[in-house]
Amino acid sequence: MNYISTRGQAPKLKFADVLLAGLASDGGLYVPETLPTFSQEEIASWAGLSYAELAYKVIKPFVDDCIQDADLKRMIDETYAVFKHSAVAPLKELGSNEWVLELFHGPTLAFKDFALQLLGRLMDHVLAERGERLVIMGATSGDTGSAAIEGCRHSEHLDIFILHPHNRVSEVQRRQMTTILADNVFNIALEGNFDDCQQMVKDSFADQSFLNGLKLGAVNSINWARIMAQIVYYFSAALAVGGPHRPVAFSVPTGNFGDIFAGYLAKQMGLPISQLVVATNRNDILHRVISGNDMSKGELVHTLSPSMDIMVSSNFERLLFDVYGRDGAAIRDLMDRFKKEPVHLEQSRWQQVRELFDSLSVDDETTCATIAEVFAETGYLLDPHTAIGVKAARSCWRDKSVPMITLATAHPVKFPEPVVKAGLVSPQLPEHLSDLFEREERLAVLDNDLASVQGFIASHVHRG
Ligand SMILES: *Cc1c(COP(=O)(O)O)cnc(C)c1O
Repeated sequence: MNYISTRGQAPKLKFADVLLAGLASDGGLYVPETLPTFSQEEIASWAGLSYAELAYKVIKPFVDDCIQDADLKRMIDETYAVFKHSAVAPLKELGSNEWVLELFHGPTLAFKDFALQLLGRLMDHVLAERGERLVIMGATSGDTGSAAIEGCRHSEHLDIFILHPHNRVSEVQRRQMTTILADNVFNIALEGNFDDCQQMVKDSFADQSFLNGLKLGAVNSINWARIMAQIVYYFSAALAVGGPHRPVAFSVPTGNFGDIFAGYLAKQMGLPISQLVVATNRNDILHRVISGNDMSKGELVHTLSPSMDIMVSSNFERLLFDVYGRDGAAIRDLMDRFKKEPVHLEQSRWQQVRELFDSLSVDDETTCATIAEVFAETGYLLDPHTAIGVKAARSCWRDKSVPMITLATAHPVKFPEPVVKAGLVSPQLPEHLSDLFEREERLAVLDNDLASVQGFIASHVHRG
């Protein structure tokens, strides 16, 4: 299997190189040249498999011959053995044909563990085979950082540096990062905001000379392997409610468009999905594109669902590549214009987007109201991101005879504020995190200055 860039100019790569590369050299994102497809019979035959066994079936064609079967199987088994629920991604029934898919039983209590637990293992394996090392650098405003650190803490061939804005992430989120004391893990608290952190990362990727020959790798959702791992739970959820013999619908709390894009791919691969709902908070660029063909950057709004506070959804480019007939030049042109000004998609392209997705933007007040409403109806407590998903599911659900599954992307304990605003009591931390507030923290507080950050990294990397 080859991977090609959405902007048509970077070289084709195999899985192992895409895994380590992150962004393509032409500024585009890597996607598979051809998508594997599965027949209804084949999907139906997976009904009795464990989550890890199913993951192997879905992931194998993407990895192709880059990793030996036995190694891939072992890494997948180890990844999902870490999860605290025997079903890994259990479904909970909210009402008639209405479900939530709990994706928060991993180490950091958010769905990002599904991909990042695997990504750390895959990267480490490929680097070991090549006798190379890689430096992971990322910026986080919350969930990605802790999931990436958890995914890389045991890697022998990686150092990971995660920047977060000093005093601007929640205490639970900070402690989930800073209490990992592995000697390849470095937390940088930057005296700046999230955009400053992101800019540092971008500048460092653009000129890596400060690393004296070592290379940077990315763990954000532009990394193809993350999308790949997320396709699996669409299959597992559909099988659990009677697919592929009946269609299913999904509603997905969306920020960077990675998670919902995995759902779109599951559908292209043969899974009968009759509806995909994009649920956004007030940072609603995707809702504006889907409902009104308005692709313009808004102002960033801070909401009660911070993991979806995003101005531009980077993975949307992967979808645009498909609706523009995989024409890299057209995407290059579109993204160049979008850098400078609002853009509209060609009418026929936009029609395709509209046929693929429904969408809704949900404000903070409605988020809290939905948490309260669902708790009153069912006794089930939603986190704010999931609440946005459930609200959008209920508003956009076209056919009530089709099971509607909302992805529960985080555990409610991670985001106490909206739960309390909804008039409810925030739950206790689960047992494996119950002593989080007593654990020792380690972090470096650095000035908002590129040279200081790069100097810190250069002096702490392990050169093997
Ligand atoms: C990252 C995240 C999202 C958004 O997922 P994308 O793949 O960026 O669309 C939603 N909810 C939670 C809790 C997250 O951590």
